[in-house]
Amino acid sequence: MSFTVAIVGRPNVGKSTLFNRIIGKRISIVDDKPGVTRDRIYGEAEWNGKRFTLIDTGGIEPTVKEKDIILNKIKQQVDFAIDNSDLILFVTDGKDGLTSTDLDIADILRKSGKTVILVVNKVDNFDSTKIDNEFYKLGFDDVIFVSAIHGLATGDLLDKITSYIIDSGLDNGEEEIVKVAVIGRPNIGKSSLVNAILGEERVIVSDVPGTTRDAIDSYLEVDGKKMLLIDTAGLKRKSKMSEDVEYYSMLRALSAVERADVALLVLDATEDISEQDKRIAGIAHEAGKAIIIVVNKWDLVEKDSYTADEFSKKIRDELNFIKYAPIVYISAKTGQRVGQILELINRVMENYTLRIKTSVLNEVIREATAVTEPPSIKGKKLKLYYASQVAVKPPTFCFFVNDINLFHFSYERYLENVLRKAFGFEGTPIVIKPKQRK
Ligand code: GDP
Ligand code: GDP
Repeated sequence: MSFTVAIVGRPNVGKSTLFNRIIGKRISIVDDKPGVTRDRIYGEAEWNGKRFTLIDTGGIEPTVKEKDIILNKIKQQVDFAIDNSDLILFVTDGKDGLTSTDLDIADILRKSGKTVILVVNKVDNFDSTKIDNEFYKLGFDDVIFVSAIHGLATGDLLDKITSYIIDSGLDNGEEEIVKVAVIGRPNIGKSSLVNAILGEERVIVSDVPGTTRDAIDSYLEVDGKKMLLIDTAGLKRKSKMSEDVEYYSMLRALSAVERADVALLVLDATEDISEQDKRIAGIAHEAGKAIIIVVNKWDLVEKDSYTADEFSKKIRDELNFIKYAPIVYISAKTGQRVGQILELINRVMENYTLRIKTSVLNEVIREATAVTEPPSIKGKKLKLYYASQVAVKPPTFCFFVNDINLFHFSYERYLENVLRKAFGFEGTPIVIKPKQRK
């Protein structure tokens, strides 16, 4: 299990802002809705070559107004963090100063014996003479003044956090090679894209040429990470029959996808999305692979500021079964945004292999079932006892229920949305399996 850091603190001190600052904002090429700060509560971070999992406990608590309920909830949240993390970031507000709730939280934390870093947030202009030493009086060894919103001193905070992470040497999951298949119709630009990626400055191509019958493999390294790129257009078959061409391109897509973790689904910006595009997308989805939608030949499109949005809308309509896949607009010819594909691969791969702690998972599910109760059929009500993640690649969740016949598709979809909202599984399918509890 990776080193887990939990963020606690009363509402409005900037927990979610700090979370976003550390986990990193989504890149703007992805058509995400802005402004929702509480989308994700769980993410992987890396700093100085060390990795950790960050949990924003504020995201687990429901929004309530009554004061004593809030207090109660904060206590629950802090207890949760104590039970489920290795290190706690206790966030306070440097503008407001300490409140009685802060003192309560500090008490609980001190008694827990956990490692705590006191984070004084909203210190937008650091002036050491103006820092109130009431914060030091709380008795925590580590006190760091930051501005989460401006990113001031957040590097110092990350230095501090990672200083507590001991290199175990056990974590050789890093060494694993990420396998990426480039799939799409003939002539869509697959080979051009592979060449563009191999030509990127950050990419080191290693000279172990591997060729399988239906694809050409390239081994490469990006920022120290090993990657295998599978080009399904590698070997072109000459055929006069267009059905043959399609048949072989499907076959190549199938075998490449089978071997891959991530599929780059290439579309043509100058053409409508075809039945064949849908079938190829379906192959990757059915196989449970992570998917990135790459719209190529963007250089040929006459654009205004709406063009990408309109195209994205079309993609979401036509390929509505892979709504989780991020979209990137590129030109393999000019190299535009090809580098961003590499970042997307890393990000999507993290989600594809993400493991959620059972306690965190069940906390999220408990809140979700409180908001939308499980359905009843003929007076019999579905009961969710317990959930646990049983696999990665793709993330797979078992839900133990009283009667699987009551576990309807619509409720499954609701649960999928809940999981996506809480854990941000962008780019990866997730599998939900109901299991009857005996
Ligand atoms: P949470 O409820 O603890 O998660 O708090 P939020 O992250 O939602 O932040 C609460 C408010 O404080 C928001 O309006 C933020 O924009 C603001 N905020 C967060 N960090 C800072 C900061 O470093 N400086 C200032 N001035 N405002 C901040
Ligand atoms: P594949 O069959 O999918 O591997 O497609 P290719 O990489 O062979 O590309 C098919 C044709 O499209 C070639 O003539 C390429 O030069 C052209 N092409 C590929 N990518 C781009 C692009 O981004 N912009 C433009 N204008 N042409 C492209």
